[in-house]
Amino acid sequence: MQYVSTRTKEAERVSAAYAIKTGLAPDGGLFMPEALPKITLTELFELLDCSYAERATYVFSKFLTDYSVTELLADTTVAYGEERFPGGAAPIRNIDGQVTSLELWHGPTSAFKDMALQIMPRLLSRALGKTEEKREALILVATSGDTGKAALEGYRDVPQIKIKVFYPVDGVSRVQKLQMQTQVGNNVDVAAIYGNFDDAQTGVKKIFGDAKIAEALNAEGVFLSSANSINWGRLAPQIAYYVSAYCDMVKNGSIVLGDAVDICVPTGNFGNIFAAYIAKEMGLPFQKLICASNQNNVLTDFLRTGTYDRNRHFYTTTSPSMDILISSNLERLLFLVCGAEKTAAYMEELSKNGKYTLAEDEIAKIQETFVGYFASEEDTASAIRNTFEKYGYLCDTHTAVGYHAARAYIADTESRRKVILASTASPYKFASSVYRALTGKDADGDLEALEQLSALTKVDIPAPLADIGKRVVRFETVMDADQMADSVLAFAKK
Ligand SMILES: *Cc1c(COP(=O)(O)O)cnc(C)c1O
Repeated sequence: MQYVSTRTKEAERVSAAYAIKTGLAPDGGLFMPEALPKITLTELFELLDCSYAERATYVFSKFLTDYSVTELLADTTVAYGEERFPGGAAPIRNIDGQVTSLELWHGPTSAFKDMALQIMPRLLSRALGKTEEKREALILVATSGDTGKAALEGYRDVPQIKIKVFYPVDGVSRVQKLQMQTQVGNNVDVAAIYGNFDDAQTGVKKIFGDAKIAEALNAEGVFLSSANSINWGRLAPQIAYYVSAYCDMVKNGSIVLGDAVDICVPTGNFGNIFAAYIAKEMGLPFQKLICASNQNNVLTDFLRTGTYDRNRHFYTTTSPSMDILISSNLERLLFLVCGAEKTAAYMEELSKNGKYTLAEDEIAKIQETFVGYFASEEDTASAIRNTFEKYGYLCDTHTAVGYHAARAYIADTESRRKVILASTASPYKFASSVYRALTGKDADGDLEALEQLSALTKVDIPAPLADIGKRVVRFETVMDADQMADSVLAFAKK
């Protein structure tokens, strides 16, 4: 399987290892497989009795054809094993009889980014060997909270790799901030920047696009690579859990093999929901993909009107990992629907004017599969309250946005299909907001909220969050966005 850029027709084809190593295509586009492999019901049947690692290996082997099955199985076995995902990697749990939660947060950082970032460093490490790369890879990450920590945890102390993470100083929760500030490892660096997530992401993209910086780094024997969800190495692992969830739904008798289900995903950068779309295109019986947004509902408007317009107020919400106005992975969907030339033109318009409008047939094609709903802050809080009080299911703010959207969609369409809801974070990762939603009161502090929420709900605190207040803070730097490049160069020399 070869990979092409979303922005150049007839672009040079590259291997999976190369796509994972470089992250972005040379023309600024994203890498996509040149064709999507298929998966049949017979194959799904074969996967029913497999472990998560085996299912993931099977899916990866269709995309990462320059990796051997032995390599992939060795990596997935470690990445998704009991030590990192106690109790299993992506378990499903029924919420209300129609909506089932796909819990993607049982990994080391209690958020779904672990599903990709525990495996990707292993894939990258092998990619360096496969492409005979002698230089050191410097992973640059802009994060709205969860990616940063998950990447730090995945890449720490991996040979031939360094990682530097930037986060918006006021755009992450206190727990998220502490998780990053206390990161251990000899190859890691963390800095806060003044601004919001888009400022951080724009800063990182600028550094990636700057030839002078690349030259200076090269002189130090270093090259840049990305761990953001634009990297194919992040996306491929996400396809696997939709396949696995479908198998588990069949196994537990919720559905019969071949039954259609809907998928609902709380969405920010559009990576997670795009992975569900790929699974559908491969042949999984997924009917509708419900794209759930918070108050930053640029995607809801886009899916309803065909106009993507980022010129709007930016809200800081209780679901900060979805506080995003530019959903980078949407470009991959545009590529599949409109082709590379039009995608490049739309991206150009987006970067110039902050908006673009699809042709009618293009948005119609997207609407065949995608529906958009959003949750206000009030909707989010009541979803947390309702699921807990009615069904005893405690969900975090992001999952609550998704639950609200799933229920709104079911109410609008009177659909009887089962919905698989991607649950993207442990409720304890956003304990203050969850506590306030349940009680109407503020907890005594963000850290105290962990204990208070646990006392209130009798739900256990995940081990990685339980001792967060006791670790040593290592990284406290805050800088302006225009200082990011210099700090990267300084870190590369270390
Ligand atoms: C990253 C994240 C999301 C959004 O996922 P995308 O792939 O960016 O759409 C949703 N919820 C949580 C908790 C996250 O960390």
